[in-house]
Order: sequence, then structure tokens, then C-alpha cells
Amino acid sequence: MSDLFDTIVSLCKQRGFIFQSSEIYGGQAATYDYGPLGVELKRNVKDLWWQEMVYGHGDVVGLDAAIMMHPKTWEASGHTEAFNDPLIDDKASNHRYRADELIEDHIRDLRQDGDMEQAEAVYERLVAALNSDDMAGNLYDIIQDEEIRAPRSGAFDWTPVRQFNLMFETHVGPVAETGDRIFLRPETAQGIFVNFQNVREPARQHVPFGIAQIGKAFRNEIVARQFVFRMREFEQMEMQYFVKPGEQLDFFAEWREKRMAWHKRLGVRPSKLRFHEHEQLSHYADAAEDIQYEYPIGWKEVEGIHSRTDYDLKRHQEYSGKNMTYYDPFEQEKYIPYVVETSVGLDRTVLMLLCDAYDEDEANGNERTVLRFHPEVAPIRAAIFPLSKKKGLPDIAHDIEADLRPHFNVMYDERGSMGKRYRRMDEAGTPFCITVDFDTLDDQQVTVRDRDSMEQDRVAIDQLTAYINDHSTG
Ligand code: ATP
Repeated sequence: MSDLFDTIVSLCKQRGFIFQSSEIYGGQAATYDYGPLGVELKRNVKDLWWQEMVYGHGDVVGLDAAIMMHPKTWEASGHTEAFNDPLIDDKASNHRYRADELIEDHIRDLRQDGDMEQAEAVYERLVAALNSDDMAGNLYDIIQDEEIRAPRSGAFDWTPVRQFNLMFETHVGPVAETGDRIFLRPETAQGIFVNFQNVREPARQHVPFGIAQIGKAFRNEIVARQFVFRMREFEQMEMQYFVKPGEQLDFFAEWREKRMAWHKRLGVRPSKLRFHEHEQLSHYADAAEDIQYEYPIGWKEVEGIHSRTDYDLKRHQEYSGKNMTYYDPFEQEKYIPYVVETSVGLDRTVLMLLCDAYDEDEANGNERTVLRFHPEVAPIRAAIFPLSKKKGLPDIAHDIEADLRPHFNVMYDERGSMGKRYRRMDEAGTPFCITVDFDTLDDQQVTVRDRDSMEQDRVAIDQLTAYINDHSTG
């Protein structure tokens, strides 16, 4: 992993953004807990997504479906049969890899060595293998033919490629053996599909319209590393937009643009974002693209935008025997709608924001670490400091804190030198630091220091809310 990535991971732990789950017991692999700063960052992202997707669109409504769904859901969706990762073991190190990722890394090495022709040939074989009926066998053949060695041991001693289902299963009922086997949902989307009719009618929506949901999903990821990029328990923010068959590609193009614009509005540098077309289209999809961010570990998917045809609704109609058609009262026609979905990982978005915000520079001759979050995502919007504990300055600072609390998450701090207090807030990514000083006693004004420019403004106490609002957008 890159040094920068390691630095960010340790900052997250030190400052209480994100840490390993159950750490006192040695940690639970690929699961993480969000501390006080992390949870605020995550909430802000959720709120901004909901504001954009639901409040921003009169034709998108919300839903909160259960994590535990009827087991037939996953038969209908195809997850029981086909939600697999192709895995291969290195016998020398006993280390497990994803076969397709090994080949992708090999292609990248070929490109770096300037062997473009061979890289292209292997890439074409990879695409063909991923789309073939015998994916495992074909991936294995590529690894053999290309003599790809295990990254960890350098050995060339592989097991065959096996398909491994990623769903977690458990049992309901008092006795494990006789209880029904159920699965923790591996995606939130199916809760939306099965509720298509339950939502549409009461919400008085007509096609085209969308259903949005934020919630946890679970995948038994085998190659689980890379911090919150790949977790076994994570959160998704998904929106399924139901359209008339034939119109899906226009809506796909529209949502693709809107979603990219949203990432940019979070303050992410545009040069670090790009679209990436899928090498392998799912058999039911007629278009699919990812939005990728350039993490310190490389360009990786943060969001997927998929045109899923009528596959899901049709399958649920078939498996449940319930009608999933829509009657269009205006055109007087009946059909099963097509679906365009936008699916973004909340944790991957948080990681993107952390990576994008991380910076080191100098403040008054000292090195500082600063997280340059957009003010609207920053965990703490403003900090309030009394310059001294004398002459009632803390009381004024506490009054300001109370005035701002209904509007923003703010923090009061009177401990340590001003320099130390600023450093702590820079590392938390707090955009505004407000200092109450002795002049405040005479002029009812405070100093507001900008995190990025470190410039200071003198602002009247009764203008602070407006000042922070004005300086938070853009
Ligand atoms: P990948 O290929 O990286 O495993 P995916 O294509 O399987 O991702 P989707 O099924 O399209 O992912 O899920 C939608 C979004 O959910 C992804 O874009 C990602 O942001 C998020 N996501 C998926 N798996 C994980 C995970 N294990 N940990 C964290 N976020 C995840």
C-alpha cells in the first residue's frame, strides 16, 4: 500500500474518524467503526446525497427496506446462483487472490514495460473469459499461459480457480438445522425492486420515477484489504429509476452526468474523477459505467451507473407470481418498466473525501496536516476559542457556541495554546475557527480564521451564522 494511504489510515485512527472494529480483541477483519469525526462526515455525505436525489427530484421518493429479506429474493435476483468471485490460492504462501485481479495487475505491468501488444492481447482474453460460461477455467488458463506468479511468494504453484459465493447466510427460528436459511442482503437494490408496487401507488408516482435508499449491505469479501474501500459490512446509497422500455439509454446518459456533478459538488478535484466503461456487462445490462476516483491505491470504482433493463422486475414477477407491470394511464399501455440505477458506496465516498482533502503545508513556519474538506461535509463546521480564561472570555465563547449549535455542528475548546488548538482543528478539517479576544469586550466582534488561507476576518458576533453560511458554499 502507498505511504500516503498508510498516513491517512493512521490519521483516521488517531483523530477518531475510523478504526478497526472490535480492536481490543485483535480486530475483526474488513469491518470498521466510525468514531465521532467519522460519523459526522458520513452523516453529511448521506444528507447531501438524500438532498440531491430525493428532495432535489419531485419524481424520486425514499424507502428503508429490511436487511433480511425472503430467501426467494436472492433466487430471483440471481445472487444465489451467480454472485461469485473467482478465487485462486498460491500453494506456497497459502495466500488467496482474485483471479481476475491478478490478470489485471499483470496487464498493468505489461503496459508499464511498454509491451502494449501483449497487454492488449491478454486484455482481450480477460474480457472473453469474464463473459464466458467457463469463467473459472478460462481465467486459470490465462494465469498458466502468462506464467503469472504470486505477488507475495513469487511462486508459480496455483490451485485451480474456484467460484466463491459472497453472501453471508444465517438461520431464522430457534433451531439452526430446521430454521429457514436466509441471507444478509449483498445490495440494497432488491429491497426497492420487490417494493415497486408498494411504493409507486401510495406515492402517486408515474413512470418515469425513482426510489432511493441508503442502507447496509454485506459481502463475504475474500480479498478484503484496503481499509474501508473493501469491507464485509458497508453502506450503499442507491436509486432505481423506472422508465419506459426504449427510453433507458437517454435516462442512463442523464443520470451519469448528474452523478458525476454531485461528486464534484462535494469538492472533489475534477482531475481525480473519471468515467470507466465496464469490461464485462452483466447479461441483463445494456449499459454500465463506473465513476472512478484516483485513490492513493490507484483508480478505483466509487459508484456504478447501470441500465438493468426489465430483468429484476421480470424475475420477481416470475418468482413471486405477483404482477410487476405498470399501466400507463396517459398512453394507455401496459409494460414492465426498465431500470436505470445509480449505486454509490458511502464508505468509498468517505474514503475519497478523506484522500482528496488530505494535505500537508506550513503554518507560521511549522509543518501542519490539514484536511481541506468542503465546509458542508466537514465533521465540525466551526470551533470557538476564548483567547484567555480571564475577563469572562469563556462565557462569551460559550454564548456564541449556543447560538451556533442549532445551525451547525460546532465545538468549544479552551485548552492549550492557540497554535495547538488550530492544529487540532486543521487535522479535523474544521473550516472556521472563531476566537474571542479582549477586543471583543469592546467591539462585540470576533476573529474568524479560514482553514485553507489562514487569513483572518473580524466579524460581528450577531453576523456569525450568516458569515459561516456565506463562506460555506461554492
Ligand atoms: P467491486 O468491483 O469494487 O467489488 P462492485 O462492482 O461489486 O464493486 P457494486 O455491486 O456495483 O460494486 O456496488 C455498488 C457500490 O457499492 C460500489 O460502487 C462501491 O462503492 C460499493 N461497494 C461494493 N462492494 C463494497 C465493499 N466490499 N466495501 C465497500 N463498498 C463497496
